Amino acid sequence: MLQENIGRKAMLISMLSKDGFDPEAAEKLYKIEMQVTKHFEYGGVVPDYFELQDIEMGKEAKKVYWVSNTTESICPFCGEKSTELANEYYHKEIQDIPVNGMAVFHVCRVNKYKCRNPGCKHKIFTERTDGFCDEDARKTERFKKYCVLQAMQSNCHAAEQALKLEGAKVSNDTISRYAKAVAAKVIEESLRDNDVEIISVDDVNLRKGDKSSACTVFIDEKTHRVLIIIRGTNKEAVAQVLEKFTSSKIFSRDRASAYSSAATEANKTQVADRFHLIKNAQAAVKEALMSVIPARIFVREGDGSALNDDYFYVPDETVNKRVRLAKLTEKQEAKYRSTLKILELAGKGMRTADIAKSLGMNMMDVQRYRRVAVETLKSVDKKIEKNIAMMNSSQQQHFEKIATRNIKTIGPKAHPSSESIVEPFRETVTAMLKEGHSHRTIYPVLKEMGFDGCSNAIYQYIVKVRKENLEEARPNELEKPQDLNLESVTHGTVYRSILKEASKDRTKNGGKSDPRANGCNPLENDSEAKT
Ligand SMILES: [Zn+2]
Repeated sequence: MLQENIGRKAMLISMLSKDGFDPEAAEKLYKIEMQVTKHFEYGGVVPDYFELQDIEMGKEAKKVYWVSNTTESICPFCGEKSTELANEYYHKEIQDIPVNGMAVFHVCRVNKYKCRNPGCKHKIFTERTDGFCDEDARKTERFKKYCVLQAMQSNCHAAEQALKLEGAKVSNDTISRYAKAVAAKVIEESLRDNDVEIISVDDVNLRKGDKSSACTVFIDEKTHRVLIIIRGTNKEAVAQVLEKFTSSKIFSRDRASAYSSAATEANKTQVADRFHLIKNAQAAVKEALMSVIPARIFVREGDGSALNDDYFYVPDETVNKRVRLAKLTEKQEAKYRSTLKILELAGKGMRTADIAKSLGMNMMDVQRYRRVAVETLKSVDKKIEKNIAMMNSSQQQHFEKIATRNIKTIGPKAHPSSESIVEPFRETVTAMLKEGHSHRTIYPVLKEMGFDGCSNAIYQYIVKVRKENLEEARPNELEKPQDLNLESVTHGTVYRSILKEASKDRTKNGGKSDPRANGCNPLENDSEAKT
């Protein structure tokens, strides 16, 4: 049975003695067992000069005990070799990569040596375990790398949580320190092999849109390798870095003046990179286009019955009818009429100032009306639709009511409508009924056509027609006039669609194998706030 905190050695030896082995043989077997375990579990991890002594399993941690069996060591202070053991020891506990949800600690006893170099200030030194763990380190080298790799996947806080789940005991501060140490090493190497020919710089915000997090990135233009990233984008910081790269003669940069003056001081030839050349050219084109294209462009649809083909124009008669159907208030009507006039004049190419002058409005109002023109027109269209639906429904209700009431007044012996003196005018009467007319408005029309009866005769005739065939006399529903169908787009949208069209041609004709052609094109990143 596995007991907690019982050592491997104690367990093995007690089992061997139960099995009849004498203590000496048990001890021998144990030593062999430790060598085998070291080979299979820690080979290549723990240096050969450590002898495995014992393994202890706790609740949350596994402790592995080691003893150094070296017979000589180099004094780290003077570099002289010593073979004289001081018979003193130093114990250190070093954390390794966790296993099976458990932290792993190597408890190492290392030797102390006497330094016999008379010129050395140190009489006794502790032997180093380079490669396994640094002097004073509490973690193995490979565990540190493991922490940094975890942090690179996400961040130091997330790495701490992930490692905790694996059983390790390490704080985010420590992980961050390891990551910085790795970064410092990379920079040191970049500075050491000083063979960079072209240095390229750009600024980048660590937090998107936050200028206070701005950094300058230095890149080897040939290998596209990041050489160093520094806080800030000021001249002094950039100049300091440029001093270190004496081999580079060419400095590739954007338009930032800080970079320019730093490079001038460092006596570098300055060039603009393609990304920024295109970006600047594109900015100039955009500026030019935007000054020509109006801020808002109106797009018309429809069959043109109320619209002129060349510009937006709605005849007065149509406007009056729409105002009436929409039942606009005085204020709404004024805005509607002004909006339509503004669209018409703007469509003819008139400038805002002239439109304002000719309509007796101020410029601000003209601009405001133009901005909400689509909404204004749509809201009137909606009102018309709603009112017509209401009018139709009440008209039909009214028709049903009077028709059924009047029909009752016709007796069973009454003559049919076909015998009436109004019968020759049947077509006109039913057509006018469908338009919603009554006997009072039909009478003058029939009289004009030669009818010589009285208005009441027409009334009786209508009631009979309704009785004989209700549908023939039912008024038609009012038809909703066609919407004015105005859409608008901003000039930004127009500009983007121009770029999109242009880029279609470009990919067809281009297809060069430049690696920067993909993903680095400022034309496609128009919306990103990159400076
Ligand atoms: Zn020494």
